[in-house]
Formats: sequence, structure tokens, C-alpha cells
Amino acid sequence: MDADLVVVGAGLFGLTVAQQAVEKTGARVHIIDVRDHIGGNAYSYKDEETGAEIHQYGAHLFHTSNAKVWEYVNRFTEFTHYTHRVYTTHNGEVFPLPINLGTINQFFHSHYTPEQARNVIAEQAGELAGTDPENLNDQGISLIGRPLYEAFIKNYTAKQWQTDPSELPASIIKRLPVRFNYDNHYFKDTWEGLPKDGYTAWFERMIDDPRISVSLSTDFFDPSQPWNRDALVGQVPVVYTGPVDRYFDYQLGELQWRTVYFKEQRYNEDDHFGCPVMNFSDPDVPYTRAIEFKNFNPERYDQLNHERTVVWEEYSRFARKGDEPYYPINTAADRSLYSQYKELTEQQPQVVFGGRLGTYAYYDMHQVINSALIAFDKQIEPMLKN
Ligand code: FAD
Ligand code: UDP
Repeated sequence: MDADLVVVGAGLFGLTVAQQAVEKTGARVHIIDVRDHIGGNAYSYKDEETGAEIHQYGAHLFHTSNAKVWEYVNRFTEFTHYTHRVYTTHNGEVFPLPINLGTINQFFHSHYTPEQARNVIAEQAGELAGTDPENLNDQGISLIGRPLYEAFIKNYTAKQWQTDPSELPASIIKRLPVRFNYDNHYFKDTWEGLPKDGYTAWFERMIDDPRISVSLSTDFFDPSQPWNRDALVGQVPVVYTGPVDRYFDYQLGELQWRTVYFKEQRYNEDDHFGCPVMNFSDPDVPYTRAIEFKNFNPERYDQLNHERTVVWEEYSRFARKGDEPYYPINTAADRSLYSQYKELTEQQPQVVFGGRLGTYAYYDMHQVINSALIAFDKQIEPMLKN
């Protein structure tokens, strides 16, 4: 075997570990991925017809407040000045998100000052004053009052989760910002942007080293190819970023995930929505949001086709066999099952489980990079030095 370390999964966790292994220890690293491209869920490609950069697994926006991660990613790519802003269509009108003074004043046809708006919302949320809401429905009402909750949250959430909001945990929207000024930046992080030459160019630069080799369309569980679980585990250090329950042949049961899927539309227009992401908060539109990829990269004006545009409508559902697992559902039963799998992972010789699938966790890109840098220093480097 021609490798000191095998990485299963060419997503951001696997790529970061591979890059660090070569740079810090000079190890030879072999990466495999069952897909036919690197980059995991953050992979993107250029659409031939429109010139738009399509994020194949859903819109990916990079943002972080972690200086170590920001410095690290800037070694491989420059970032554009893109800042994320989202709009939503409700009842035939377009409103800015996240809910801010602009949304509130438009919704109530008013011109409240920040303080007046605070008082109005507090009054509307008053029906649940003094309670500690446990479900999403009550949490939403106590956060923004019933009228705004019913307009912007209730039906969108029901579409996204296919579950009545009164049966969902309050935690899903606890982080939802409500702003009493006109700030409609979606993220509050210190740094934000999109990779200047696209995600895939960034990822290619991370592993541009003769000591790193890659086998695509290669399944770790396929015994007919040499880089498989039974041949490798115990023989060489392995970093595994696939689904943790799959690694153990689902012997304790299956963890639950939600998935998203897309329907593509093409229009004979330069710009269909006028923004990159339009949410649809009413139940008559079956998808949750639409992504117009062109609008992520206004700086590429000269490279874009201004006669046509491509839009992906995003739908959400519980993941079935064969679907891409995207968001951990994380019920109490899932968490208990994951903790049992975690005990099994600790008994695997020289195998490090990482990334969102390997640890059953929802991570943003900056979080997954940070966790890979830490795992490398704490677990993987000592293994390679031995
Ligand atoms: P992945 O990217 O999933 O990589 C795991 C890899 O392992 C995959 O390529 C898979 O093919 C491979 N693999 C699995 N099983 C096997 C096997 N048996 N053999 C070989 N290979 C295997 N983050 C942000 O920061 N901003 C965003 O705007 C954002 N938007 C998102 C939107 C959506 C719809 C989703 C789903 C995620 C979004 N994220 C976003 C999160 C981001 O995608 C993740 O943080 C990141 O991709 C996780 O990297 P990873 O390496 O852990 O996993
Ligand atoms: N949400 C909503 N209406 C919106 C946008 C978000 O009700 O227009 C709620 C919904 O419950 C969703 C949560 O806020 O699950 C988080 O949404 P966000 O867009 O931040 O996360 P993502 O779906 O991209 O992970």
C-alpha cells in the first residue's frame, strides 16, 4: 500500500486533514470518495449555458468569526465581497429577511422607530409572556408575536420539516435573529465571502501536492476495490467521514436525516428574482426557497450570459434509502443511538471519525474545518508520528 494515511471522503473535513498531514508530517495520503468529484457537499461547477457557478448540493456561503480558520482558508483562495441577504415572498409581496425593522414596517404598513417596534412586538408576543416555550410554535410566537410568526415562520417551517411546528423543538429557531434596525445581513460573522474562482478551485489547491493521491467513484464498503474497510482498518491510519451507522453496517439501527432536492428552471431573462435566494413562506408554493446562482457572483458580470438564467427550486423531505443525508434530525432517540455508535468508534483501531456524517452533527464549513484542524493535532498527528 502506497499511503501512510487513508482518508475516506473528499469533503472539507477530509481535504483539511490530508493537507495538514502532508504539510506537518510529510505523510503520503490517499483520499477516496464514492462520488465522482472532490469537495463533498460544498462542490460547485460552472453551468455551460449561463456561466453561473452552481452549488450542486445547495447554496453554500462561507462565513466565520474564527481567525484561525479565516487565515487557513485564505491560503488557498481569495474571497469576493459577497454578503448574504435573503428575501421572502409572502401573500404577493416581497419582504427582507431576517425579520428586521424593514420587514416589520412593511408588514404593518407603519413607520415605527426601533423602540416603538420593540413595544409592538413585545405586546404581540405577550400572549405567552412568562412561559418557557418548548415547541417551535410557541417559541416563534414568544419571539416575534403571532402575526409575524404566522406570516414568515409557521408555513415555511412546516414545508421544510414536514412536521407541525407545535411538534418540533424550540431550538430550531432559537438562533433566528430579530432586529430592530434595518440591518438585513443574514450572517453576523466577522468574515464572509465566496471563493473568487469557485469552490472546486479552492479545494483543488488544498490537495495540490504529489504526496496526495485521489481515487474517485470509489466506495469504502466495496470489497472489490483495494481501498476498502476490511483491507485497510488495522493496517493503516484511516480518517472516515462517511455515515457513522453505515461504517458499522447499521448494526444498532439507522440514524435519521433530512434531505433536500431541487427542480431546475431556466428563463429567457438576465435576472429572474433580483437576488440569489428567495424564500417562499406560504403553503401554496410547494418549495421552500429558490436559488438564482448567477446572483452570487455579480463580479463575474462579463463572463455571464445576460439572455438566460438558471434557478433551482429547493424541496425538503425526510431522507429515504439512496437519498443524500443532509441535516441530522437529532430526536432524543437519534442522540441516544449516536452515543452508542460513538462508543463503537472508540474501539476501532487507528480510525478517526470526523465531519458531519462521521459524527452525526450539523456543521457549517468553517466549523468542519476547525474540527478537522483540531482532530489533526490531537488525534491524527500522534498516530502518524507513531
Ligand atoms: P461532506 O461534504 O458530506 O463530505 C463527506 C464525503 O464523504 C462526501 O463527499 C461523500 O461522498 C464521502 N463518502 C461518504 N460515504 C463514502 C464511502 N462509503 N466511500 C467513500 N466516500 C464516501 N455550510 C456553510 O458554511 N455555509 C452554507 O451556506 C452551507 N449551506 C449548506 C446547504 C446545504 C443544503 C447543506 C446540506 C449543507 C450546507 N452547509 C453549509 C454545510 C457544509 O456542506 C458542510 O459543513 C461541509 O460540506 C461538511 O464537510 P464534510 O467533509 O464533513 O462532509
Ligand atoms: N425559517 C423560517 N422562514 C424563513 C427562513 C427560516 O421559518 O424564511 C426557519 C425554519 O424553521 C428553518 C430555520 O428558520 O428551519 C433556519 O433557517 P435557515 O435558512 O437559517 O437555515 P437552513 O435551512 O439554511 O439550514
